[in-house]
Amino acid sequence: MDRTLNSSLLGMDHKELSALVGEAGEPSYRAKQIMEAVYRQRVETLGEISTLPEGLRERLAQSGVTVGAARIEKKFVSVDGTVRYLVGLADGQSVETVWMPEGDGGEAGDGSEAGAEAETSIPGASAAKAAVNSVATYGAAQSRALSKQGSGLGSFGRSTICISSQVGCAVDCQFCLTALLGVKRNLTAGEIVGQVCAVLKDQKVSPPEDRINLVFMGMGEPFLNYENFIKASRLLVECVGIAERRMTVSTAGIVPRIRDFGEEKIRPKLAISLNASNDALRTRLMPLNKKWNLEMLLAAARDFPLRTREWITFEYVLLGGVNDEPQHAKETAELLRGLRCKVNLIALNPGPGIDFATPGEDRVIAFQNILREAGIPAFVRRPRGRDIYAACGQLKRTTEVAISLEPQIQSISPQPRR
Ligand code: SAH
Repeated sequence: MDRTLNSSLLGMDHKELSALVGEAGEPSYRAKQIMEAVYRQRVETLGEISTLPEGLRERLAQSGVTVGAARIEKKFVSVDGTVRYLVGLADGQSVETVWMPEGDGGEAGDGSEAGAEAETSIPGASAAKAAVNSVATYGAAQSRALSKQGSGLGSFGRSTICISSQVGCAVDCQFCLTALLGVKRNLTAGEIVGQVCAVLKDQKVSPPEDRINLVFMGMGEPFLNYENFIKASRLLVECVGIAERRMTVSTAGIVPRIRDFGEEKIRPKLAISLNASNDALRTRLMPLNKKWNLEMLLAAARDFPLRTREWITFEYVLLGGVNDEPQHAKETAELLRGLRCKVNLIALNPGPGIDFATPGEDRVIAFQNILREAGIPAFVRRPRGRDIYAACGQLKRTTEVAISLEPQIQSISPQPRR
């Protein structure tokens, strides 16, 4: 094993750790001890792994091995309780990781954890009322969230961690702030898992005792960093203790990878960013549609081997006057007919350099109702942490949005704007 290339314990699986301790002349149960320390106790230094003999810790340190823990550089807390973390990486790059104390209603790919969604899942007129209510309950949610901060999940718990898979993103979706960064590099499996460990530690929570959902919906396109993403998912299930059914990965639509993903033994649930109802519109909003168009994308979705009670989630970012007309909703319903799926609607989260408008709530509800009337379960995702730039599509490394942050705090309300 080349220590210069792979020297952090975080990211190593049982096999790799066994090889590592074997090379150091130690029995293989040491691998289990390291796993326990790194993934469960979430130690940050070799010195903290008290189950290992001091001599072994020294030998590991001498050969350049570190824990490789993620470093929280900055922390922004939203009025709604959402926390955006700026996580520093060993080479000086950084990514963002978001903690949502009550999720955003979008993490439940199959509706099984649809606590927040239940609020907006009543068809017809009452749906509009429920959606309004879900906005009106912000105050209560906020105080509950704030009161529990740093003290574990307490009596209510359905929190979601949103993690990044790349520094920046190469996909270039026109409405997404992360796209403005371009892609800098892939994260290693250890850097992906490290975000989760750092947030769990900071929030003083621990799965499986605490109910933690995980979404691969932060910076980057997970399916363009496929191997590391898959390895991280396995480590999260096997070592950190987060159940597969509590994890969802979102892809912009890397079709060959969707097909590979279906073959994985251990895998999160699948979400696909649809965002448009026809090829012309989708190509305009998401240039990758030129390579993998709707026909190819939906064929992969139809062929996707779903497990019992599993659904595919389609995400649809609503852009005022662009893709939010009733005709788009009807087209979407046609596209998805017969698929075991649900749709998560997200009103655009605004940002500097993003030339689209957030549609009004009435438009969002009208879109939702058309889908529902066509028999497609559709939910409205609550924006979380918009004031601190933590909502979907707003992750762009704090340092680079800091200048515009102050005025945004005043002007962005949690309610979708017209
Ligand atoms: N690259 C992956 C995961 C990251 S984006 C993907 O594309 O799915 C996560 C979700 O945020 C996607 O559904 C994306 O369409 C949505 N999103 C991006 N920018 C947004 C914005 N400005 N407002 C609301 N949602 C946005």
